[in-house]
Amino acid sequence: MDRDRDETDRRDAPCHPRAIDTLTAERIDRIRWIARRHYQVTDAWFIPAKGGEWHDIRGSNTTLELADAQVFCHRTLRHDAPLVIEDARRHPDFASHPLVAGPPHLRFYAGVPVRDPAGSGMGTLCLIDTAPVASSALDLGMLQVLATQVEEELGKRPSPQPALKPSRDHIDTLTGLPNRRLLQMLMEAELAVARQRNHSLSVCLINLDGFKCINESHGSAIGDEVLQVMAGRLRDAVRRQDLVTHLGGDEFAIILRDRLQPEACNRILDRLRIPIRTSTHALTLTASMGVTCYPDDDEDPDALLHHAYQAMYSAKEAGKNGYCRFDLKHHHFRRQRLALARDVHLALSRQQLELFYQPKIDYHGDTVAAFEGLLRWRLPSGDILPPGAFLPAIENSWLDIEVGKYVIDIALRDLDRILQRGLPYSISVNVNPSSLLDSGFIDHLHHALALHDRDLAGRLTLEILESTSPPEELDTIVSNIQACLRLGLQLSLDDFGTGQSSLSYLRTFPTQKIKIDRSFVIGMLDNPEDEAIVAAIIGLSKSFKRRVVAEGVENGAIEARLKGLGCDLGQGFYYSPALPFEQAMTWAGDYSRRRH
Ligand code: C2E
Ligand code: CA
Ligand code: CA
Repeated sequence: MDRDRDETDRRDAPCHPRAIDTLTAERIDRIRWIARRHYQVTDAWFIPAKGGEWHDIRGSNTTLELADAQVFCHRTLRHDAPLVIEDARRHPDFASHPLVAGPPHLRFYAGVPVRDPAGSGMGTLCLIDTAPVASSALDLGMLQVLATQVEEELGKRPSPQPALKPSRDHIDTLTGLPNRRLLQMLMEAELAVARQRNHSLSVCLINLDGFKCINESHGSAIGDEVLQVMAGRLRDAVRRQDLVTHLGGDEFAIILRDRLQPEACNRILDRLRIPIRTSTHALTLTASMGVTCYPDDDEDPDALLHHAYQAMYSAKEAGKNGYCRFDLKHHHFRRQRLALARDVHLALSRQQLELFYQPKIDYHGDTVAAFEGLLRWRLPSGDILPPGAFLPAIENSWLDIEVGKYVIDIALRDLDRILQRGLPYSISVNVNPSSLLDSGFIDHLHHALALHDRDLAGRLTLEILESTSPPEELDTIVSNIQACLRLGLQLSLDDFGTGQSSLSYLRTFPTQKIKIDRSFVIGMLDNPEDEAIVAAIIGLSKSFKRRVVAEGVENGAIEARLKGLGCDLGQGFYYSPALPFEQAMTWAGDYSRRRH
């Protein structure tokens, strides 16, 4: 819309309400919506004093005569104050009024005058209800504020205008703009309408850069002047249907009734950048702005504002004097992750997490020596999820530690079963480096082991990944590893060769075993470099007197090569994938029978 022409229209308009254009009608509809919601009444009307168009009953089934309604309006304007009729049916002047005796069977009426700056009555903003309401139960402060908004909408009130009836509750006295509380309500209304009509909204949060310095070096009077100028500029930078509010301090929020348009953002920021001439100084300020856009960001007013804040902080971080859009992709990703983490938590409490066991073959005697316990999530549908599908969602969280403790409990329970059956197998489980930083995890190990046979500890191996922890945490990890060794547990360096500092780990971590990552093993026959790495790791483990396990043994040729290189143990699909406990035991029995 051409704003300048629009301004002229406003100034030149005659004093009685002109035919209300669609835009104004929509704005007034929103104000009515807020009033209705705030007061929980049957309806809220704007009744024009004369002429004009009575748009208020649009959508209602009843056709009402404007003249009938205007009786209430005129009475309110003459009253020149809020007029409350608690029960029209008992009111001598209104009992037989057509709107009371007939549809909509109005009984309660509360109206406040809507005037132009010269004081002429333009209409009334009123609440009506089909049941009587006691006026003692009513605070009409909000209705007054909303009437001021209608006055502005009708274009008769130049703004910002400190002469507005300022309500400390809803209008910021310094700038004359709606404050945070009113913004909240206006946003609810805007969103409700946008939802209904499939419209877009952009919520912009603006924070002036370096405003604190202005206040500190020039005093708060200049600061206030700056805020007033900025408020006016923001109003000028947007269209009439957009909403500018002052959240407090140097923060403003704007609701643009549109999709996010980079030009609109730039226009707003450009306006703010213009040097300001206060009574005593010339100052130049910039602003940082964060934007989020409904319906892409489909949230409630609080969340939208919060997202706009986050984006504003990103704009600050990116060097200020610019705008950033809220990162929805990242937001959705995080939300999904959180939802998944919640589901994992439920799965844990419902015991849907299980360990499947993959055998490890001892190459010196061709026997099943051990099993690696690998986590699986058995969904109620019967589907089985691999750890890669859910462990990342709980990484580095308390839940990670809880799952780790659970895995220990399950492994010990199953080791107990193995022991009771007189079988020789060990079990290894995967332990996150973060668990090894957590004293609760070590305590848990201690207590869990105490519940079982003493021999059990020696049959449990913790496979630990190389950690990316900083050196100060490494000390804790090393001392916790030593605590595990004192408990009689075995330790293995998992995925060896894939990390940054595998060699120094070999020196620092007193583990008994090393596990060569499957990424080197799988292709070792086709790729001489992989084979060289496998051979080097095997050699290294011999010199460090560690047992070496290769994972990812997918065929007999790899097995033969590994044996040739002196590898101690092998694990992989060539033997078996991970299986539920009983199946794994049956598989192991069959393997021994086949081999011997
Ligand atoms: P990992 O410790 O390297 O475990 C070995 C993975 O290799 C397993 O995948 C296994 O199914 C797969 N695998 C075994 N043999 C072969 C083979 O011959 N070829 C190929 N291509 N793959 C083979 P899975 O079960 O999906 O586990 C993935 C990772 O999830 C594990 O990698 C481990 O880091 C992690 N994980 C599994 N269970 C746990 C757990 O209880 N706690 C923690 N913290 N991590 C776990
Ligand atoms: Ca492992
Ligand atoms: Ca691995």
